Amino acid sequence: MTDADDTTVRSDGGSEPPRRTVTIPDSIELPRLLDFYDLQDDEHTRISEFYDRLRDGSLSTTECRDCGDLQFPPRVMCPECTSDDLAYVSLPHDGTLFAFSAVRGSGPLGMTEDTPFVTSVVDLDGVDVKLSARIDGADYDDLSIGDPVTLEVVDIDGPTDQHRVFYRFRPRGDTA
Ligand SMILES: [Zn+2]
Repeated sequence: MTDADDTTVRSDGGSEPPRRTVTIPDSIELPRLLDFYDLQDDEHTRISEFYDRLRDGSLSTTECRDCGDLQFPPRVMCPECTSDDLAYVSLPHDGTLFAFSAVRGSGPLGMTEDTPFVTSVVDLDGVDVKLSARIDGADYDDLSIGDPVTLEVVDIDGPTDQHRVFYRFRPRGDTA
C-alpha cells in the first residue's frame, strides 16, 4: 500500500503547464452513418422486401414457415426455432394505441425540428403484433390509450438518392 502511494506523489516543478484553446464549430456536418433511417435496398439490408412492400403502401413482416412464429420487425432467421425459411405476410394497417409518450426536446437526428411529437406502441388489430411508431396528426393531450389509429407511409426526402420510406400512424378517420 505505501509503495503504491509513494509513486503517486510527485512535484509539479512549480511552473504553469502549457495551455491551448480549441474552438468548437457552430455546426458539424454529420456522417451518413448517423442518418436515423436504414439504407433500404437489397445491397444494404436483408429485409429490403419489407421496405419494397412499404413503398408500395403495404405494411408487412416475416412469418416462420416451420413454426408459424410471427415477428416484428421482420427477421432473416426465426428467433423461436432458428429456421431461415421465412415468408413475408401483410399486416393490418389499423390498430389501437397501446401506450404513448411525447418527445418534447432533444429529438433524434433528423427530427430535432419536429418536437414536440408523439411516440407510441401500436397494437395491430387481429394479429399479435405491437410495434413502436410515431403518431402524426395529433398532440399528446388529444390522445388516449385505446384510440384507433391507422398506418401512414412516410417518404423520406434526402440525403441519399434512394427513395426511402418509413411508417408512422395517425388517428383513424383523420385524413389530413
Ligand atoms: Zn420458427
